[in-house]
Amino acid sequence: MLTPVAEGVLIHQSEFCQSNTVVVQGEAGVLLIDPGVLGDEMTTLADDLRELGQPVVAGFATHPHWDHMLWHTRLGAAPRYGTARCAAAARDQLADPRAKARIAQQLIPPDIAEQVPLDLLGLITGLPAETARIPWDGPQVRIIEHQAHAPGHAALLIGEAGVLVAGDMLSDVLIPMLDLNGTADPIQDYLSALRLLEGAAEGADVLIPGHGSIGGADQAHARIDQDRAYVHALRDAEVPGDPRVGPSATYDWVAGVHAWQLQRLAQKKPA
Ligand SMILES: [Zn+2]
Repeated sequence: MLTPVAEGVLIHQSEFCQSNTVVVQGEAGVLLIDPGVLGDEMTTLADDLRELGQPVVAGFATHPHWDHMLWHTRLGAAPRYGTARCAAAARDQLADPRAKARIAQQLIPPDIAEQVPLDLLGLITGLPAETARIPWDGPQVRIIEHQAHAPGHAALLIGEAGVLVAGDMLSDVLIPMLDLNGTADPIQDYLSALRLLEGAAEGADVLIPGHGSIGGADQAHARIDQDRAYVHALRDAEVPGDPRVGPSATYDWVAGVHAWQLQRLAQKKPA
């Protein structure tokens, strides 16, 4: 079920929202980034890795949203890392005993709710703030933390392979979705994060977004420009000329997200 995208880097794309799981080959096993969404997909992935003799030796969640911090027992008991802020946000969310029921009812689409295993959701080990690299026995994976889509959101740069894993940024199917709850200036935060990713993309030949298609080096820059244009349109309350929200959009619900972001930002502005 895995497709190679660079030397030692493979992906699986879920049927759910084109979610990309990333496998990085190391010395004694693999690093698994955003493990997947559907239980079946995670068990097949676990079986495939076992057959290849490549156990999961570390996990990483790019950010504390349910579809990026799932896990399946079959994947084993490797440490699952995230940034300190990501782990803290996951802990806060799950401190409420009703949290999983609410996620199942309100966030997971009803048609897949029964296929998403929530038992091991969000058990993230926070890496100390400013940690530069994922601690594991494999290629160097640089952590590029920024304040944009979610608290403690991190992109990853797999140096030797030239791969930028963007988390929920730089998608060709989803518009920038801002973190409108946590910060004073989500627009500026998002624009700063795009600048940071622009720098990181210099060293990358392959771009893997959390949702959507894999891109080459040229795509990284095109998507950064497209995201910046969207955020500017959102800031100025202009109609974005963006194919991801237009009539040809891959997901029709994205237009609703756009309308909601506009409304929330208008409420935030001082009268
Ligand atoms: Zn997300």
